Formats: sequence, structure tokens, C-alpha cells
Amino acid sequence: MATATSVDVVPSFSGGQWQRGEAVRCGEVFNPSTGKLIARVPLATAAETAAVVAAAKAAFVDWSETPAVERARVMFQYRHLMAAHFEELASLVTREHGKTLAEARAEVQRGLEMVEFACSVPTMLMGDTLPNIAGGVDAETNRHPVGVCVGITPYNFPCMVPLWMFPVAIACGNTFVLKPSEKVPLSAVRLGELLQEAGLPAGVFNVVHGDKECVDALLTHPEVAAISFVGSTAIAKYIYEVGAKHGKRVQAAGGAKNHLIIMPDADLDQSVKALAASAYGCAGQRCMAGSVAVAVGKIADPLVDELCQYAGSLKVGPTDGNEAVDMGPVIRAEHRDRVAGYLDIAKQEGATVPLDGRRDFAGGGFLLGPSVVDRVEPRMRLAQEEIFGPVLSVVRANSLDAAIEVGRNCPYGNGASIFTRDGYAAREFKHRFNAGMIGVNVGVPAPMAWFPFTGWNQSFFGDLHIQGTESVSFYTRQKMTLTRWFKSAADSFQDPVWKTAKR
Ligand code: NAD
Repeated sequence: MATATSVDVVPSFSGGQWQRGEAVRCGEVFNPSTGKLIARVPLATAAETAAVVAAAKAAFVDWSETPAVERARVMFQYRHLMAAHFEELASLVTREHGKTLAEARAEVQRGLEMVEFACSVPTMLMGDTLPNIAGGVDAETNRHPVGVCVGITPYNFPCMVPLWMFPVAIACGNTFVLKPSEKVPLSAVRLGELLQEAGLPAGVFNVVHGDKECVDALLTHPEVAAISFVGSTAIAKYIYEVGAKHGKRVQAAGGAKNHLIIMPDADLDQSVKALAASAYGCAGQRCMAGSVAVAVGKIADPLVDELCQYAGSLKVGPTDGNEAVDMGPVIRAEHRDRVAGYLDIAKQEGATVPLDGRRDFAGGGFLLGPSVVDRVEPRMRLAQEEIFGPVLSVVRANSLDAAIEVGRNCPYGNGASIFTRDGYAAREFKHRFNAGMIGVNVGVPAPMAWFPFTGWNQSFFGDLHIQGTESVSFYTRQKMTLTRWFKSAADSFQDPVWKTAKR
């Protein structure tokens, strides 16, 4: 067993072999809780990347012909192994990402549910039939795998986001090349080891590490059929454009700016807790994190007061080996400084900062406390740009219509939630808000495995989304067959009774 957690260089996985070659270029993996270097990750060249695609291509012939029921059996075994290694996986996520152990457990659980979803692939691959669609002609559709599929993933969910992709792709009969974030490659390696242990044949799942050179080689490789991407909007757009230009089907999920609307009738206490969990969970590094609270009417003053009090009481600290923490570090020192820089931008633009998370933390972790920025206007950078850290901006609006307008003026469209006791306001919001995932009194309306992750606007490029049956459509192509059999002179069949019987 390759033990990526205890070694210096993170292995790649190609054609069933774990490889630790001599890389010309390497990236660095840190433990964000301590700031210490924990591994080096090789950054593959275009030629090395092509070799991994070739391994996936070679495995496709046999795997695509393996009965769907047998492919699903590997997923059942994988599910069993993931459950057996649940705590180990969660600890690994905490170690390389920095989120709390509770958050890491939730992430592994969400990923595991994708494997459970993939176990039902034989049912989802069933086609449609219509006998006698024309006289003596039968029609049917069947689903076929597309070939070599690629997954390119971000740092913020080292375990869950890869699991959004490869279990369904593989269960559908494709082979897969995963290019995890070079900031958090360790969880991906462990997921691959467990997949190998589950009995997946060599070459069906592969891991290549790298940055732009590797990604570009995947995007343009003629043997790659489909690309799933999750990451920032600028790169998602690039992946979509270059991948499509090279004839691949692409689903590319991008960044976000999610709105939480608090109506005057909302339960203040519950709303404050939900807002804080949404904005500061995973230190704000979630594509579904609430980052703009839109306070409607008179609730604004008490909301900001209670939010600052509650957020200010959250225990911030290193998470690795420490469960008594509410919020952990962000991924890198530069990212912490970038996020903190928005507090200065806020003041320059005329907003106020009633809770400033900048303080001296002991140890070398990349820590930043929760911040609240008040009196943000929709045109300000704090309302327009993805910050991706523990900063919650508050926009004050005088009506639900004005709150909905705030969303319409934002370029993203992942998630949005309303907090209210009024069914009519909730219905209006649900129908009219300009985002693809909606919550009613729910802070993070992230869909579970069985539903698609339906980002809109600049939060998604493509057609078929990740998760749910849309993912089965993405990883398969349909074949439609019309069949007619002619009766020959030699056939001894009589005309059916129903044709000759008198009625
Ligand atoms: P990122 O865009 O920097 O990196 C994502 C992947 O793209 C990585 O594997 C990286 O190696 C690769 N990459 C980076 N720069 C590249 C380039 N110039 N050319 C080719 N490939 C490149 O994203 P990140 O910082 O790792 O992750 C955070 C982002 O991901 C946030 O914007 C967050 O909102 C987004 N995200 C979105 C969703 C969603 O479902 N919409 C889910 C999780 C994260």
C-alpha cells in the first residue's frame, strides 16, 4: 500500500501502479493548522499526463464491457471500505485542508453518499422502449459510456468533490483520470488506494498531479471524451471553452456569491446561528457559503448586533488533532492575507467593519477570525466578488423585491436562502431569486447526491450538472435503435389471434 500520508513525494496512479518518479517541478502541501510542509506533489508534464490518459484508454475496452451489475458490485465494496476508513479519511481532510474534524466528517459522509448513488447505476442505465412505434417497428434507447473521463478538482473539498465525479463515471463504464488540487492531493491518493482494494481493475481509475501544464494536456488530448471541473469561475470558463473547442463534453462548476435574505419576521436567534454556520463553516471556503446577508427592514440592527456577538464568540484555532474548535484556518497564508485585504477594501468603499477577524494567533497556522462587514452596497466589491473566506457582508434592503434585486445584480448564481415565517414571501423568493439552489430557513442549501448541483450564471458552464441523474446523462451517451423483422415465407407463425378474432 502506498502511504502518501507519511512520505515526502505524493504518488501518482497510472495503469494500476503507484509511481513516485523524479519530477522536474513540484508543488508544496501544507498543514494549514501548523503552517508546516507535509508533502511535495509532482507537477506532471504534458508527456507524463498523456501516458496516464493512455493507461485509462487501454482499460476502457474491458471495463466498458463489464456488466453494469459487476461494476456496481465494486462500488458496493468501495462503499464498505470507505465506511471502514471513515475516520481516517476525515482526519486526512482536516490535516491537508484545515477544516474542523466535524466538517471533514460531513464532507466524507457527502462523498460516501455519492458512492451509494453510484451503486444504483444498473437501474439508472436502463433505457426506454416503445414496442410497435410504427407498424411492426420497435424503438429503444440504450446508454453507453463515453470513454476516458477527466476530473479536475478544487482544494476546498479534497474528498467530496472527487467523489462527485469518479464513482458515477466509473459505474457507468467509463475510465477516469483525476487531477486533484495540487494543494490537497493526499485525500485523492487515499481514495484511489481504497478503490484499488475494492477490486477495481488496473487503469480504470488514475490520478495525475499537476497544474496548468497538466490540465492543458488533459483538455486538448484527443482520447479524453468528457471533463468535469470544479473550481473558480475564471478557470471554469477557461476549461469549458478550451474543452468544448477540442470536442469534449464539459461540466464546469465555478465560484459563487451566495445570498441569505433575512425577513423582518424571521426568528432572530435561529437565523443568526444559521448565518454564522453558513458564512464561517469551513472558514468560509465553500462554494455554498453564505457571503452576503440581506437584512430586510427593521431586523438589520439587531441582526448585525447579534451576529457580531455570536461570531465573535466562535473558537478559532488549529484543527488537526483538536476537536474543541469552531473554525479552522484557511488554506494558505497568501489566501488569508487576500481575504483580510477585503476588510480594508470595505472601509475604502464606505462600508463599516463591526467585527474584524484580524488578530494575532499563536502558532504558525493560517488563521483568521470571523468578520462582519455592514452597510455594504450591491455595487461594492464586497457584494460582487467571491472572497472565499470568513467574511460576511451585510446589505440592508427595504423590501423583499429590493433583496431579490441584489441577487439579480450579482454575476454568480449558486445558492440563496430566505429566513422567514411567511409562506408567501418564501414562495416569491423561491420562484424569483436568480440562483440555482434555494433554501428556505436552511443556511446551506447544498443538494445531496440524488439531486443535481444546479449552479446558474457564472457559477456553472455547461449543460448537465454534477450529481443526480444529470450526472448519469453526462457520463453516458444514448443510442437509439429502431427494429423491424420481416415475416419470411418460411416462417410458420400464424397471424396473431387478436388480428383475426371477431369482436
Ligand atoms: P482553482 O480554480 O484555483 O483550481 C481548481 C483546479 O483548477 C485545480 O485542480 C487547479 O490545479 C486547476 N487550475 C488552477 N489554475 C489553473 C489554470 N490557470 N489553468 C488550468 N488549470 C488550473 O480553485 P480553488 O482555489 O482550488 O478552489 C476554490 C474555488 O472553487 C472557489 O472559487 C469555489 O467557489 C469553487 N468551488 C465551486 C464549487 C461549485 O460546485 N460551484 C464547489 C467547490 C468549489
